[in-house]
Amino acid sequence: MKNPVYTFEKLKFASFEFTCCEGCQLQLANREASLEAFFSLLDVRTFREISSEKHDDYDIAFVEGSISRSDEIERLLAIRRQAKTLVAFGTCACFGGVNSLKNRFPIKESIAEVYDGLPVETLPVRKISDIVKVDLSIPGCPVAKEEIERIVVNLVTGSLPAMPKYPVCVECKERLNTCLFDLGEICLGPVTRAGCSAVCTSGKTPCLGCRGPAEDSNFPAFMELVKERGLSRRDLQEKLGFYNAFEAYTVHET
Ligand code: SF4
Ligand code: SF4
Ligand code: SF4
Repeated sequence: MKNPVYTFEKLKFASFEFTCCEGCQLQLANREASLEAFFSLLDVRTFREISSEKHDDYDIAFVEGSISRSDEIERLLAIRRQAKTLVAFGTCACFGGVNSLKNRFPIKESIAEVYDGLPVETLPVRKISDIVKVDLSIPGCPVAKEEIERIVVNLVTGSLPAMPKYPVCVECKERLNTCLFDLGEICLGPVTRAGCSAVCTSGKTPCLGCRGPAEDSNFPAFMELVKERGLSRRDLQEKLGFYNAFEAYTVHET
């Protein structure tokens, strides 16, 4: 029997960066074993990190980074006008990311101190969905390439992309890791969306929640755990605020 022949239309794809380290775009060009298959699904129209080609006739735009300048707003609006589907990918794009730490400090004074009075235009950091409609968000600092590959296959085949609703703890326990709470540390694994293969906790580093809140998590129980273990609420608040991914989950110091 002959193998079935599948036909599909390549996605007219573009990738753009805003305020960020570009590590998420780098992930798209990562994972050599599947790179050829991955790019066989895409008709890359614009993607500065991998190609000098530059075309404006894309259908799907992957947008990385947060917004921190007025010219970025204009560029993002133009991308939104062109793209049938706009995907915010990476924690900076989805939540503001580490860039949001800047919002805690007075902008004028900080610029004066760091840039010695040179003129620098910078606005409070905003996530992509604060400016334009986002059709799909893929979190992660950086994004997980395997997850991006699955989602691109979903988009090419017209099926609904899905991400885990359960928390990082599930993946961490699958790896038989010692729980960092048992070592006296606060870990955001119980309330953070899985999908990263518990990469940090497998290296004995507590989860800082870069993938944002998990739908299937129990935040009150998590708070109870932090309290039972006598761990610092201030540390907890610092961790929850690190990527700006838990805006709705403010805790008060006791
Ligand atoms: S989410 Fe992380 S890896 Fe991705 S661009 Fe932002 S800082 Fe870089
Ligand atoms: S180390 Fe963190 S992610 Fe792993 S089981 Fe403990 S709380 Fe969950
Ligand atoms: S363990 Fe937590 S901080 Fe680390 S990659 Fe996964 S979600 Fe992000």
